[in-house]
Amino acid sequence: MIDLHTHTFFSDGELGPAELARRAYLKGYKVLGISDHADSSNMGLLVTALLNLIEETAYSEHITIVPGIELTHVPAKLIEGLVFKARKLGARLVVVHGETIVEPVEEGTNRAAIEAGVDILAHPGLITEEDVLLAKEKNILLEITAKRGHSLTNGHVARLARKLGAKLIYSTDAHAPADLLPEEMARKVVQGAGLSLEDFSIMQRNALELVRKRMEAR
Ligand SMILES: [Zn+2]
Ligand SMILES: [Zn+2]
Repeated sequence: MIDLHTHTFFSDGELGPAELARRAYLKGYKVLGISDHADSSNMGLLVTALLNLIEETAYSEHITIVPGIELTHVPAKLIEGLVFKARKLGARLVVVHGETIVEPVEEGTNRAAIEAGVDILAHPGLITEEDVLLAKEKNILLEITAKRGHSLTNGHVARLARKLGAKLIYSTDAHAPADLLPEEMARKVVQGAGLSLEDFSIMQRNALELVRKRMEAR
């Protein structure tokens, strides 16, 4: 299992990075992306903290931790600059908190994230066909999420991605230990969005390809 979108108590998650990684490992995860909620105020702290962790801990022999951030409720016009800054700080993974229907995310966030070339557009809500096409063109992964609330539009995202040929990724968006779903349940979430088990495998491959690309780029 590979999951590139999770949270620790550095933002609103329950566990520290070490415990999250340990619990994920015990559930069969091989690669874990940690992407806490970030804006200009805390981005440097988050990335530095994760880079320290990766350098100094032994359990990374068992599970690969990918240091990332999730730009969250950042004004759309600032997204491009912050994506650039995050990569410069050393974040291997840049996620943007997309236009979920359960929060007042600024309109235009999906588009700004795609134009800025993020890695994953998380829970993009009722994303437009135009934006899905642009995501396809820019090779940006659109998220199918296990997170309650955000998952309400999984069916819409899956349908448009399939119709237009954009790539998808599955994530838990875990904030607590119980959110780290075992693979069996992850497959059901994906099937519940109207996708197939083959699609689940493709999504896991998409995630792995992204990690390889970003880790090798350093
Ligand atoms: Zn989010
Ligand atoms: Zn999240």
